[in-house]
Amino acid sequence: MSSISKVTVLGTGVLGSQIAFQTAYSGIEVSVYDIDDAVIAKARQRFDALVETYEKEVPGAQGRADAALGRLRFFTDLGAAVADADLVVEAIPEVLELKQDTYARLGNLAPERTIFATNSSTLLPSAMKDATGRPDRFLALHFANQIWKFNTAEVMGTADTSAAVFDAVVAFASAIGMVPIPVRKEKAGYVLNSLLVPLLNAAAELAAGGYADPHDADKVWCTATGAPLGPFQIYDIIGLTTPYNILSHGDAQMRQLADWLKENYIDQGKLGVASGEGFYIYGPAA
Ligand code: NAD
Repeated sequence: MSSISKVTVLGTGVLGSQIAFQTAYSGIEVSVYDIDDAVIAKARQRFDALVETYEKEVPGAQGRADAALGRLRFFTDLGAAVADADLVVEAIPEVLELKQDTYARLGNLAPERTIFATNSSTLLPSAMKDATGRPDRFLALHFANQIWKFNTAEVMGTADTSAAVFDAVVAFASAIGMVPIPVRKEKAGYVLNSLLVPLLNAAAELAAGGYADPHDADKVWCTATGAPLGPFQIYDIIGLTTPYNILSHGDAQMRQLADWLKENYIDQGKLGVASGEGFYIYGPAA
């Protein structure tokens, strides 16, 4: 049983909308905060689209998904949004100063009991903990895109996070249908990206270097390990632009791989599943 019954989600973009919706779908009241009314209006559309997605893709969601909308309340006033929160999940843009400023405001506005969790993919919680004014009640809770299907929640504290807070957030993640993954020490990339990024980079090296075709690399990976998807199928699902952006900020070898992705795929509009073609052909653009 989770002790967390009132949740506020900051940011209603790709991930924030999914986290808020999944939480409401699980029966919890959710306050949703974003910067202005125009963004909130877009968020309402995102939530309506999520009802349809859940009804199509989540077994048993017919009728239930619609009810989740009734558990969402919308705010553009941060103080009002967090006034009674047990947990605030932050999913605002990946900009350290923006997150630090937001935590400094939150620290003054939220009740003392409120736990803060960042969904940041690339920033370590220790870079934000001091801004919160309550480092013992702050940690990372990292969801994956398409939370209803890819339902991991990596829970990662700093050296200052209290054990009770860590456990409460693990229990919350279970309560909303996630598979919680405790990360025992702070680690850039959590567990998932610590495994996935080297695999994807190694696959690109094999193909860009002319050692193996992408489809054959996937074939050996799936046949020999029993994995359901090969690295190039995963590239296509993620979309090639994100790995391209990461590689282009790396060392000389990584930048070569970025160029290879750009010249052979991205420049030809082959961006992955969403564009209808990447390393594989999927038909009309989704
Ligand atoms: P996004 O750009 O889709 O959404 C960000 C939202 O934050 C927007 O609605 C924006 O209006 C709002 N916002 C901007 N400034 C704000 C502020 N000061 N206070 C409150 N809201 C503000 O971003 P996203 O892709 O949802 O990413 C959000 C966070 O989730 C990032 O930290 C990212 O690393 C993490 N994340 C993203 C993914 C992904 O696949 N997109 C996966 C896991 C984690």
